Amino acid sequence: MSASAADTVLALARPELVGRVAYKPPVVPSDMVRLHANESPWNAPGEEARGLNRYPSLAGLLETRMSEVYGVEADQVLATRGSNDALDLVIRAFCRAGVDAILTATPTFAMYAELAEVQGADVVAVAMDPERGFAFDADALLDAWTPAVKVVFVCSPNNPTGQVAAPEQLDRLLDRLAGRSLVVVDEAYAEFADGPSVVSRLREWPNLVVVRTLSKGYGLAGARCGALLARRDVVDLARSILPPYALPDPTARAALAALTPRAVETAAGRFERIRAERARLTGTLATLPGVQTVWPGEGNFLLLKTADREAFVRRCEQGGVLVRRLHGDAFLDQCVRITVGTAPENEALIAALAQPADEEA
Ligand code: PMP
Repeated sequence: MSASAADTVLALARPELVGRVAYKPPVVPSDMVRLHANESPWNAPGEEARGLNRYPSLAGLLETRMSEVYGVEADQVLATRGSNDALDLVIRAFCRAGVDAILTATPTFAMYAELAEVQGADVVAVAMDPERGFAFDADALLDAWTPAVKVVFVCSPNNPTGQVAAPEQLDRLLDRLAGRSLVVVDEAYAEFADGPSVVSRLREWPNLVVVRTLSKGYGLAGARCGALLARRDVVDLARSILPPYALPDPTARAALAALTPRAVETAAGRFERIRAERARLTGTLATLPGVQTVWPGEGNFLLLKTADREAFVRRCEQGGVLVRRLHGDAFLDQCVRITVGTAPENEALIAALAQPADEEA
């Protein structure tokens, strides 16, 4: 099907939501007495400087800045509470409970399935092949696709395998599913990848949604800020199901500060450092006792298969280092995911693994 067919993308949405209009706060002059919003005239203790007695007003400004940073039009951005919020909005807008489904390639980020479950949507999953390095396989997804599937999630780089979906594979998926399903590319870890983001492809594909976050590359996991990037029709629909004033001003302020041209430059240097540490760790970990496989990945983490996971985790923890055990897939039983930290943090990990385990602990 040609890409132009999908002016129909809203035809995939829950019909009762199409045409909803987002709550639009009134724009009011700042020198007028505010007796229109039932706010408190006083600030909470300790909050005098931040003006949190007033409803938030900075989301629009943040969306404009995000559009510049991500390279999309201003009306193609919805600022969200972390990228989890963006993923949730897409599922809620497009999946009818008990009728529709999502499609994922596992192992992948567990929230796609969990958010779908909460919405009452089915989850269709295809397994990626560890023997092929978990390479993203559009045909495997297309073979598993059914007309109930309204949203396909592509995590790229994929958590926890670190693989990036090859552009030609993604194009194939977008083309074959034009007018049939949304394809959500979750780029939570795009800043650490070797190649470019897929956002520029929004021009070509109306069924593409890209999800970004400030939690990983920009150091704002605690602020909860992400973005849904899509054609305007999808952005407007997602916005229309958000509650009013969803993005708090302290979050927007932190995000705006993280996205100034200077801060973006600083962040780019940090992405480079993580990439360099990732390359070093990939090589070093592979030589350490108890490590069977280190998959080359493009996120700020590595997936490892261990000979004995409990012994491995114990050695890490005895050295004061936390790593993540993975679950949900028989293959992952002996696997751990390790975040790439600073050079001293990574040294602490290597030192911990070089120590023999204390069996009494
Ligand atoms: N997508 C992926 C692939 C993730 O790994 C995570 C967090 N671990 C998220 C989305 C959600 O992150 P946040 O809500 O903090 O943006």
